[in-house]
Amino acid sequence: MEGLHNTSTETLQQLDAMHHLHPFTDTQALNKKGTRVIERAEGVHLWDTDGNQFLDGMAGLWCVNAGYGRREIMDAVYQQMQQLPYYNTFFQTSHPPVIELAARVAELTPEHLNRVFFCSSGSEANDTVVRMVRHYWSALGKPDKKIIISRENAYHGSTMAGASLGGMKPMHKQGGLPIADIQHIMQPHWFVNGFDETPEDFGERAALALEERILELGAGNVAAFIAEPVQGAGGVIVPPATYWPLIQKICTKHDILLVADEVICGFGRTGKWFGSDEFNITADLMAIAKGLSSGYLPIGGVVVSDRVVAGLEQGGEFNHGYTYSGHPACAAAAVANIELMQRERIVETTGERIAPYFQKRLQELSAHPLVGQVRGIGLLGAIQLVPDKPGNGTFGTDGSIGGFCRDRCMDNGLIMRAVDDAMILSPPLIITEAQIDDLFTRARAGIDLAHQHWLETR
Ligand SMILES: *Cc1c(COP(=O)(O)O)cnc(C)c1O
Repeated sequence: MEGLHNTSTETLQQLDAMHHLHPFTDTQALNKKGTRVIERAEGVHLWDTDGNQFLDGMAGLWCVNAGYGRREIMDAVYQQMQQLPYYNTFFQTSHPPVIELAARVAELTPEHLNRVFFCSSGSEANDTVVRMVRHYWSALGKPDKKIIISRENAYHGSTMAGASLGGMKPMHKQGGLPIADIQHIMQPHWFVNGFDETPEDFGERAALALEERILELGAGNVAAFIAEPVQGAGGVIVPPATYWPLIQKICTKHDILLVADEVICGFGRTGKWFGSDEFNITADLMAIAKGLSSGYLPIGGVVVSDRVVAGLEQGGEFNHGYTYSGHPACAAAAVANIELMQRERIVETTGERIAPYFQKRLQELSAHPLVGQVRGIGLLGAIQLVPDKPGNGTFGTDGSIGGFCRDRCMDNGLIMRAVDDAMILSPPLIITEAQIDDLFTRARAGIDLAHQHWLETR
């Protein structure tokens, strides 16, 4: 096949339907409708094969933090490809890009996190976490400490371990998950689980659920607690201020490792380099991916604390690794991404100016008759659609109003995701104030249409 650049959208859709199975997709439903074929991108915008332009309110899948079309990253990858397109890091070997990336990541992460184990995705990072924390406790002569506690409605990826750690029921239903020795406690989602309490009281109650579970299982059987600083795929759930300090205390008190899944929060999304910086979390391990390379090439990793490294060193060989652990071209992309984020002070600008403006515009939507709550931090936002104000009555989980709103936004040139009936935003960090205005004008128009639809069909 001679490259499909001048092929009609219809032909592309037909080939896609015949040969391509999409992630998280009802194939039959999709193929009735046909995919939208995205062809190019620049800055915060995407274009499809029919020439329609979209403002990408999701930064791809929460990952294109530096925006599209960054020459510096492309050039770095091209140069690395010419010099050394691939070599492994298994055979007592290393290479300059992976060494540079590890050192740069260690410099950016909190002080006690200084070593990085590389992989190709967030899911692989969390698979590594499961094996690493269990191996750590084994190495210290405590092989019974192997249960990992996570949370309902968490997202930690789609591999067997990632989906098991995650708390998404529809994912567990397929393929016999979760795997053994993974437990889930309640999520700190005030709007859904704590509406009648103050957020502060609810945050404490949600954190104490961890202690209750540890006591139930016996601390001698629990290896780690894993959580996203802010839940992303679950619906941009920002925990109350009381939550993280108490979680931290409980982990310390019972000698449970604390794992921060920074796959979304990391690399500037909250307006700081890491969610751990934002919430003062001292994590023993940190999963990273997505913003690490701004999505230009697939790369992830687990950043490991000095304490955990010291334990692992007692355990001899760690029998784990990937062919593409620290892939040179992917590492070069990540180095170039970090360099440009530092040079352009993207994280600082996000935290000081862009995120506050984004949050202000987001807040304005809370007065809308269809909106029950808005929530967010940094350049993360959720707009919770509700049938009747006030109160936390939701439309249920069929997501039909959310899906309707998402489709109208798409018709109107805005990519906004729907998680059930919460509309989700996570734009590239390089978005400008004028582009944020454009984003919210389009978002409001989509919500207005969803409201009208709801009034007509209720
Ligand atoms: C996306 C995501 C993952 C999984 O990353 P993949 O690269 O899709 O495997 C893990 N954790 C969190 C918090 C994520 O948002």
